[in-house]
Amino acid sequence: MKLADPVDTIPFVGPGYAWRLKKLGVNTVKDLLYHIPNRYQDFSLLSNISTLQPGEEVTIQGQILSIENIYTRKRIVIQRAQVSDGEGVIEATWFNQPFLVKNLPPGTMVSLSGKVKASGSRRSLVSPEYEKLRTTNYAFPKETSLLRTGDTVHTGRLVPIYPETEGLSSKWLRSKISHTLPRVIEEISEYLPEELLARFKLISLQDAIKKVHYPKSLEEALEGRRRLAFDELLEYQLKSLIRKNEWKEKKLSHKLLVNQEKMLQFINSLPFNLTDSQRRSGREILRDLKKSQPMNRLLEGDVGSGKTVVAALACYMAVQNGFQATFMAPTQILASQHYVTLNSILGPLGVSVGLVTGGRRKAKSEKRKKIDVLVGTHALVQKSVTFENLGLVVIDEQHRFGVAQRAILTQKGSGGFSPHVLTMTATPIPRTVALTIYGDLDLSTLDELPKGRLNIKTWVVPPQKREGAYDWIRKHVKDTDEQAFIVCPLIEESEKETMKAVRAATAEFEMLSRKVFPDLRLGLLHGKVGLSEKDEIMRKMQGGEIDILVATPVVEVGIDISNATIMMIEAAERFGLAQLHQLRGRVGRGAKQSYCLLFSGSSSPQVVMRLKSLEKTMSGRELAEIDLKMRGMGELYGTLQHGFPELKIASFMDTELIKATRFAAEWLVEQKADLSRFLSGSEIVVPN
Ligand code: ADP
Ligand code: MG
Repeated sequence: MKLADPVDTIPFVGPGYAWRLKKLGVNTVKDLLYHIPNRYQDFSLLSNISTLQPGEEVTIQGQILSIENIYTRKRIVIQRAQVSDGEGVIEATWFNQPFLVKNLPPGTMVSLSGKVKASGSRRSLVSPEYEKLRTTNYAFPKETSLLRTGDTVHTGRLVPIYPETEGLSSKWLRSKISHTLPRVIEEISEYLPEELLARFKLISLQDAIKKVHYPKSLEEALEGRRRLAFDELLEYQLKSLIRKNEWKEKKLSHKLLVNQEKMLQFINSLPFNLTDSQRRSGREILRDLKKSQPMNRLLEGDVGSGKTVVAALACYMAVQNGFQATFMAPTQILASQHYVTLNSILGPLGVSVGLVTGGRRKAKSEKRKKIDVLVGTHALVQKSVTFENLGLVVIDEQHRFGVAQRAILTQKGSGGFSPHVLTMTATPIPRTVALTIYGDLDLSTLDELPKGRLNIKTWVVPPQKREGAYDWIRKHVKDTDEQAFIVCPLIEESEKETMKAVRAATAEFEMLSRKVFPDLRLGLLHGKVGLSEKDEIMRKMQGGEIDILVATPVVEVGIDISNATIMMIEAAERFGLAQLHQLRGRVGRGAKQSYCLLFSGSSSPQVVMRLKSLEKTMSGRELAEIDLKMRGMGELYGTLQHGFPELKIASFMDTELIKATRFAAEWLVEQKADLSRFLSGSEIVVPN
């Protein structure tokens, strides 16, 4: 057996098991060794039956004296056995596993782990883990110290509990891993240099793998985990460092001249004063644009913090230098909106703005070539879209695009020059995450909202107050020209909107129109609505002809309706806090007081507490960090957004290890080490 072999080379792993393993991300023998327990059950205490105390979690070893099936009236079959270790006898019971009577006939030597229960003077083990001991000729031990350890897999030790899937239990995984590990472990070779192992007190890779699966103590398990986590993070760090260096070394861009007078003209033409952080970010961007090395900057800011105008400033400067700029947004709605906004900001300054989306008839490409700022969806990536002189690429909600799409757009410069690249996101990124996966980007942050914005009043609404909340919404919407959004539950964890979600939204819309708000004007928006209909709905919403817009969560990003003051979210517990925060940001755009109502189907105190953090804070970053702590990375951004990798072993909370691997990556690059040894290839996709 070799590490690279497919899992079905392991005995008794057929296509069915291979398929289930695949669901856990395990395709090869090596993957199986890297399938790391998420916890351990401590069955390491070996006891004599005669000294067992009720409540103890123990392992006993002995001989089955008798075993029988007991049929109850409630269709439950109980297996009851008597087990003796020569000095004491204990009863063991299991439920609905009649095959045990055949499997563990009297005389079998077994090892049992579980909690000791007592009723009166009788002690028993209920549903203990069991395994047969291999020795047939087994002398009863007289002393506890004679009990055999080290031979057992499921009992008598720190028993690993693995991430499981339907039809694949930890017990099954344990037996396969215990079969496989000794046969391939020698093939695993150390690739970290001695200096790093010593400096960061890391154990060898072989030891690490043995210790996570077979720890003698929790400390050993943690040592093993730490080493594997180090490797995982190091790979991320190296990848972002390599990208950063490539960007620095290979690419050349046009140096732009920043004309102070033009800049002031731009700022003065705005209907508002820029916030301090908009000014700071603007300065950081302009400083980049003056360099011959292309900008690669991420502008991060909560929804409503005013990223667009900062990007518009950069576009304006590019155009002033005789270059074109392009602005890519993830949806047609957003692209249209940016088109309108940029037109209103840049049009009066003499800049021409164009729009390209997939659904629209293609503008004559000749004409398009001359446009100063071309706004669009991913349709901009098409071959037919070309530029005479592209100087700047702006990508909004950058994580919504694939790496390839972004790369194609940034290669549309001419004459061997690369455009400067500004990416933007409203997704709050905890610092440790930025350090790991965005290590190659420079970061600007908008950490304040424009002055005069009111906090959005947020409430978690318990189920019994649903009717009241509907009444409140009705009254509020009826008496004013204000509007509301109702966001339907996230149904499937899929990035694309499924038909199921569309049907659910449609049903919700019909129910609300008929039963709850028959007197109001409702609209429905989801991903399957046709383009012209979508435009029509948005136009109506903007024009105040719709009171309540029912939408799927996919409509999350960037809709800007200044009269919308109520955001109601169904089944809020299914969303991450950062996501809810982004949804909430759809309202509160104007000067009016806005509200966010979070409905939850769960009344579990933990869920309510988590949601209530939205009542208390308006900072996206804070919410992201709370979610990171409470639920981990995957939940943080939800599956609506891709590009955020989930760590398998390491944690983004582990600042110490993140710093250590950053250091190690820089050191390896400095040493001119052969980095290919540290990269596992395509397994980990890092957004750039
Ligand atoms: P986001 O960061 O979510 O993309 P936008 O760029 O869409 O935010 O800005 C949100 C709203 O705030 C827009 O209507 C914009 O005109 C307005 N805005 C931006 N900057 C300021 C400011 N400094 N003062 C007041 N309003 C602003
Ligand atoms: Mg925006």
